[in-house]
Amino acid sequence: MATERQVSMAQFRAHLDAIEVGRGIDEVVVHHTWSPAASDYRGIHTVRAVRRYHVDVRGWSDNGYHVMIGPSGAIFLCRPIERSGAHVSGRNAHTIGVSFIANFDRDEPGRYAGLGVGHEVVAALLARFDLSTKAIRFHREFASKTCPGLKLGLAQFREAVANVATSGPAAQPKVVLLPGGEVIECNAAVEDGVTRVDLRRLAEALGCTVHDHLKDQGKVYLAR
Ligand SMILES: [Zn+2]
Repeated sequence: MATERQVSMAQFRAHLDAIEVGRGIDEVVVHHTWSPAASDYRGIHTVRAVRRYHVDVRGWSDNGYHVMIGPSGAIFLCRPIERSGAHVSGRNAHTIGVSFIANFDRDEPGRYAGLGVGHEVVAALLARFDLSTKAIRFHREFASKTCPGLKLGLAQFREAVANVATSGPAAQPKVVLLPGGEVIECNAAVEDGVTRVDLRRLAEALGCTVHDHLKDQGKVYLAR
């Protein structure tokens, strides 16, 4: 059964707050997919292909990873965090598996917008499960692999996550400025490169009224 879905960073944090995880979590294990590499990425289709490979070829119950991160920073919830993953031999029961869709033996992490999102995802997981950055582990510590790639260093990765944890998420806009400088407080936010605002406040400031009586059909009208 397909369990993967794409979420924004805010939705990811909300999901972590909402779930009850009965198994004890003491480590977050970082991976790269190796294959597919970043250039193979086709959005959620790539995530589904990984899941099908894990289920059909490996015989696992679901995607082996709990979270996957696309090259552009898309976040995918995969196997439910409540359940043990299948990503690291002998440590699945008490860990969470986070995988970059990349081949960091070859792909340059610095050119990969997903890396910063990965730091935020791991920081959110550490906060949720009350763990220090020492709980960040690389797969290669436990397997004769390079995973998550020769171009990623554990010390730098931990430091980057620590910086996210202390500085918090990047400063977010809260207001929209109209031409002329009028300030509209409409809870503006940029998530995954998409700007979101409280439409009603913005529309009314622009002299429109919002009609949402057809919202059940997925439609909202603006009228002047
Ligand atoms: Zn791995």
